[in-house]
Amino acid sequence: MGFEIGDAKKDTTNADTTTGGGAQGSGDAINGPEHSNVAPNEDHPTGGSINATSPIGSGDSGEDLHLEGDPIADTKAPGGPIEQRWDKRRFEAKLVNPANRRKLSVIIVGTGLAGASAAATLGEAGYKVTSFCYQDSPRRAHSIAAQGGINAAKNYRNDGDSIYRLFYDTVKGGDFRSRESNVYRLAQVSVEIIDQCVAQGVPFAREYGGLLDNRSFGGVQVSRTFYARGQTGQQLLIGAYSALERQIAAGSVIMHSRHEMLELIVADGKARGVVVRDMVTGEIESHFADAVVLASGGYGNVFFLSTNAMGCNVTATWRAHRKGALFANPCFTQIHPTCIPVSGDYQSKLTLMSESLRNDGRIWVPKERGDDRHPREISEDERDYYLERIYPAFGNLVPRDIASRAAKNVCDSGRGVGPGGLGVYLDFSDAIARLGQPAIEAKYGNLFDMYKQITGENPYEVPMRIYPAVHYVMGGLWVDYDLQSTIPGLFVTGEANFSDHGANRLGASALMQGLADGYFVLPNTIADYLAAGPFEKVDDSHPAAAEAVAQVRSRVDRLLAVNGRRTVDSFHRELGHVMWDFCGMERTEEGLRKAVSRIRELKAEFWSDVKVTGTGEELNQTLERAGRVADFFELGELMCIDALVRRESCGGHFRAESQDEDGEALRHDDEFAHVSAWEFTGNGKPILHKEELHYEYVEMKSRSYK
Ligand SMILES: Cc1cc2nc3c(=O)[nH]c(=O)nc-3n(C[C@H](O)[C@H](O)[C@H](O)COP(=O)(O)OP(=O)(O)OC[C@H]3O[C@@H](n4cnc5c(N)ncnc54)[C@H](O)[C@@H]3O)c2cc1C
Repeated sequence: MGFEIGDAKKDTTNADTTTGGGAQGSGDAINGPEHSNVAPNEDHPTGGSINATSPIGSGDSGEDLHLEGDPIADTKAPGGPIEQRWDKRRFEAKLVNPANRRKLSVIIVGTGLAGASAAATLGEAGYKVTSFCYQDSPRRAHSIAAQGGINAAKNYRNDGDSIYRLFYDTVKGGDFRSRESNVYRLAQVSVEIIDQCVAQGVPFAREYGGLLDNRSFGGVQVSRTFYARGQTGQQLLIGAYSALERQIAAGSVIMHSRHEMLELIVADGKARGVVVRDMVTGEIESHFADAVVLASGGYGNVFFLSTNAMGCNVTATWRAHRKGALFANPCFTQIHPTCIPVSGDYQSKLTLMSESLRNDGRIWVPKERGDDRHPREISEDERDYYLERIYPAFGNLVPRDIASRAAKNVCDSGRGVGPGGLGVYLDFSDAIARLGQPAIEAKYGNLFDMYKQITGENPYEVPMRIYPAVHYVMGGLWVDYDLQSTIPGLFVTGEANFSDHGANRLGASALMQGLADGYFVLPNTIADYLAAGPFEKVDDSHPAAAEAVAQVRSRVDRLLAVNGRRTVDSFHRELGHVMWDFCGMERTEEGLRKAVSRIRELKAEFWSDVKVTGTGEELNQTLERAGRVADFFELGELMCIDALVRRESCGGHFRAESQDEDGEALRHDDEFAHVSAWEFTGNGKPILHKEELHYEYVEMKSRSYK
């Protein structure tokens, strides 16, 4: 097993569970919270865990909202010098010989960069892979939207970069809430990713000598970001997708597009399959394998408005969570500083303006409150280039959490620009004067076009208006060094796991992590698990499979049966407002408590008043969305509890009660240098297991970008 957890975990596994993997008994899983009429603030004194105790702490630690379980630890990362750990793990891992691989099967949910790279690599290695995605083509996964670039410690610029520096920047950027071993491995593997992608033909930008070009992203002082104009995700995904298609053609990968995973099958304590709904016919199917990989992306859409693709959701990981997989740091959300501001209530989507623009754009607001003159009428000495002023060392390239909060602060002080005062300027006039418009067009042309199409303003002539928006989640399913969750045989990669980014991800590091996981890490670590095969056959006759299918059917039927008055989207929008207001850029004890009770009320209203039109036997997007929103309610509640319990500020999690005299985030390493890994109980009181974090290589200190 890749993790150690104390008795609470053992004891909370109900004797009557047929899944064996978690705290949720079979009856409870069907009659989960959506069935259980949990009244707001209703107390469940017995909780779900024999060994769980109420936490002790100063202030409001949300003791009435959760229970504390035994600590958890990652037991897979080897000791010894950090630069040798990955080699050591690979050497110690068991291998599967090529002839035996053909007898072993893996299900992969997701075909974004993390899932497509894993499926292609495992297919090429000879395993039998079955892949799922809900889009009509694997190539439409959300990864295709990634704009700015992918990091790698190649040091092509000879500007002092190294694997160690990428490791250091990432640990520091994550505000000391990530694991050193994982981050070091990520930095090591980053170098190989670029070679792999170049070999696939990914058209990275090149500089005049023909070598690959680099630019800078926030939180670093070197240029290590490889890019393909503003379409890096698209180009990388075409590479991974081509590799995947090759395996599909070769028969080693069976692809099911337009299939949504709605339940995990945990048989005899191991992840052995999934239940999916064919989104075109409505048919419910079960699929089995020796191991399951979730590469299902992030859940930023819990906020309703985000830069994520409209379909991004939490269902795959949440269903696994309900079956026993711990969910780590759910409240760690990345709010990206450079997005097009919200322009009205009719909006269902926000648009990112890539962080790469901060290489050449300068961010400012008028010095005077309420100065609503045209930006070109505001002279240099009437402008406040606040990032350059407050953080002279990093200037416009401070990390995202810092830039976002600074934008919020200047807008809160009445100096924001545009409608409602919720915007700041991102101005390219200096760069255009220095480099000429053609050079700016060559670097960012598609982003400028996009901005113009959406706002009707020409950013070559007037500064862009930007404001922070939800963009990425650092939280996700807890995994060990092998990327295995707390359910044996369930691996989680890409944005879906709680990842290597701590409390704040540095720009251009998500693509790096997704591809590191899929091309390089998982193919090694999953072999160690599969080497224990052949595994006992599991099919539809197994009680765990029958139970999972019944859970899916009962949920679909129930959603269709409510027949209320409100649309799914109206519930989602309201949930999003609650999340943004109380669990967004700034969180307070009072606000988070309000949010928990409002979410509980909303959830109850949803299950009694939602209107899902159509039937379950057809293409039914309302039904699809309803299922996702139902899971967002449960996730949103957990996010707020997680944020309430973490009584410190760190990275993307800013608690107003915990700031220094300059208004900067104030961590409390003595109490909170841990990963918060949550166990599902279904009774309104999740159980918190803490994984202590230790720093041997990077000294833990307050971040300073000044
Ligand atoms: C606008 C934007 C720009 C970005 N730019 C950058 C950038 O420049 N650099 C960078 O490093 N990062 C960037 N990011 C972040 C990065 O794009 C994502 O973190 C990353 O692409 C996630 O990849 P993934 O493979 O983990 O998930 P995704 O690409 O989200 O793929 C998820 C897959 O899972 C499938 N799936 C999900 N749930 C189910 C289910 N229940 N059943 C079946 N299938 C399911 C989907 O169909 C999809 O195939 C950006 C993000 C946004 C929003």
